[in-house]
Amino acid sequence: MSTDTNEDQLVAEIAELRELLHAKEVKLARLRRDKQVMQEYGLNNDEICRYSRQLFLPEIGVRGQKKIKDSSVLIVGAGGLGCPAALYLACAGIGHIGIVDYDNIEINNLHRQLLYTEANIGTAKVTAAAERINQLNSYVKVTPYKIQLISKNALDVIKNYDIVIDGTDNVATRYLLNDACVLSGKPLVSGSALKFEGHLSVFNYNNGPCYRCIFPKPPPPETVTNCGDGGVLGAAVGVIGVLQALETLKIILNMPDIIFGRLLLFDGMETKFHDIRLRSKNADCVICGQHRVIHELIDYEEFCGAKANDKEPNLNLLRKEERISAEEYNKIAKGDSKSILIDVRSPEEYEICHLQDSINIPFTQLSKDHNLNIIRNNIEKAQEELRPIDMYILCRRGNDSQKAVQYLKKLFTDDTLRIKDIIGGIYAWSNKIDPRFPKY
Ligand SMILES: [Zn+2]
Repeated sequence: MSTDTNEDQLVAEIAELRELLHAKEVKLARLRRDKQVMQEYGLNNDEICRYSRQLFLPEIGVRGQKKIKDSSVLIVGAGGLGCPAALYLACAGIGHIGIVDYDNIEINNLHRQLLYTEANIGTAKVTAAAERINQLNSYVKVTPYKIQLISKNALDVIKNYDIVIDGTDNVATRYLLNDACVLSGKPLVSGSALKFEGHLSVFNYNNGPCYRCIFPKPPPPETVTNCGDGGVLGAAVGVIGVLQALETLKIILNMPDIIFGRLLLFDGMETKFHDIRLRSKNADCVICGQHRVIHELIDYEEFCGAKANDKEPNLNLLRKEERISAEEYNKIAKGDSKSILIDVRSPEEYEICHLQDSINIPFTQLSKDHNLNIIRNNIEKAQEELRPIDMYILCRRGNDSQKAVQYLKKLFTDDTLRIKDIIGGIYAWSNKIDPRFPKY
């Protein structure tokens, strides 16, 4: 029997056992609940004991705990923000948590998405999240939504909840959630994180501004970096996710000093928080202003000029003859003819893995004089030996490489020079030529 078959069988067995375990846990939780005596404020003895450390807080008490129990929170995005937020909200005793995410768990999620384990890889995030939350606190009702939130379904989902947490990583969904929250009259606890930094604010709360009041226009799509490209430290994004849970609980408890009309900036590099005051509600805001123009959800991908998901796009910028497959390049590299290979990934990525004889010039540094000189020198050196000259551009997935080809073709117009990109980048190389190359 092959290792793969063995592994498949084990995975199937584990899945079966988990299902059995889940059913037993649900039954046990129900038995325990049935046994409990409800006290005056609608909490049973087990709940009072479980939440006692926060019940002692004068801001909470049994009445506050009942408020938390009676509340419902929708978490959109079960990733680096949504996971820690969900954990703290579940442990604090939120009555109903809805989780929206269309993705399955991948190994590169585990460094920051605390709800999941290695055993969950390949399963739906929302299913694993619901299971984990109920293991922590069986009093919480969890509703998983394995969907992408879009204009057609957003209002229907949101109407069942008191508060919405934005744990997504793209601009189109940010505007969609804002508009849906304004139209449904729900506060939006917004967070974002990249590298060592994070942002936090609450929109559409207590007559404060909405996201559009502050950012009426989406940023140009090419200026937006998500953590799949820019990288993020788990502990940094975790700080913001935990703060989202904290603000949500404060809203439920009707506490003062909710962070609305303000933007909290977290700098994990220097371990500093800055708090900037945002302008107040914009009277001319198209969704929450006095003469609002938007009365229903619009097409947010069109509005933002960007996809409403965190998946990387598959660009198609070049003509067929300007591209080459990994297999074709492999043949060329093995052959006698010489060529120039430029790898436009970051130095950190280049260090992970790279092809022999490649030159690393990061895409973001491509226009720098010294880098263009490196390319020019290589072309001149090759020209002494042969003509025409082939130059190939490689990146991680085959998107930046196309942009680089377009850029370099404008600068180097010598018609003995042929510049092409390698389709699918390192990913394709790993899939088709050398599986030892990691797909990160
Ligand atoms: Zn507004």
